[in-house]
Amino acid sequence: MATETKTAQTVNADEIELKKFGELAHKWWDKNSEFKPLHEINPLRLAYIDSMAGLENKRVLDVGCGGGILSESMFFKGADVTGIDLGEKALNVARLHQYESGSKVDYRLVSVEQLADEQPASFDVVTCMEMLEHVPDPEAIVRACARLVKPGGAVFFSTINRSPKAYLFAVIGAEYVLNMLPKGTHDYAKFIKPSELSTWARNAGLDVSGLRGMSYNPITQHYSLGHDVSVNYLMHTHLSE
Ligand code: SAH
Repeated sequence: MATETKTAQTVNADEIELKKFGELAHKWWDKNSEFKPLHEINPLRLAYIDSMAGLENKRVLDVGCGGGILSESMFFKGADVTGIDLGEKALNVARLHQYESGSKVDYRLVSVEQLADEQPASFDVVTCMEMLEHVPDPEAIVRACARLVKPGGAVFFSTINRSPKAYLFAVIGAEYVLNMLPKGTHDYAKFIKPSELSTWARNAGLDVSGLRGMSYNPITQHYSLGHDVSVNYLMHTHLSE
């Protein structure tokens, strides 16, 4: 009991969220599963990250990597990638998938805060995608990412905006109408406005250098990167030299 309380206080993670992802873990690489949206947005976010930070030969950390969709794709762009997550099942799936894909990402079960204590200022690029909206204290994750990046390096975040349109698309649309995601995948109260994320980034010493929206067109069923940040968005930040 005492240990449980201690764990809950010291680890910035929501057990229920981790369990939810654990139950779906075997489906990470099934492109028609609940993870379909992540597979579909991956080429867009990968291209943005690569064009802003140049992944080749860079040391990259993927925070909350899940089954490794983004981690692997960054490896295949020539980066030396470490993927971390607190979901053991997702990491096992990620490791197993490498037998099939031939990628060589180093997957570790460690919290971002602990890794920041172990290896501060050691990554050229840090990515933290679709994860901030699932943790109790997202600002602490932003701070830890800032501690992990080298001076001059880039940190990318993506999450869901707390807007009426996001509620409609990410909760009602995706979970209830299109049945794309299991009900309860997203909690509206945990969505994050770009203004809040940029404040946390600046508080952590990161400069915000870019913001892109990722929009889903339910008619064409395609995602695109653009100026509409009202639902899903990607933020590019960097640490001054
Ligand atoms: N970043 C990946 C996966 C997003 S799903 C992608 O975009 O493709 C969210 C992931 O965050 C899950 O794998 C979940 O296990 C992980 N996660 C949730 N809370 C976490 C925490 N506190 N620390 C690390 N990972 C966490």
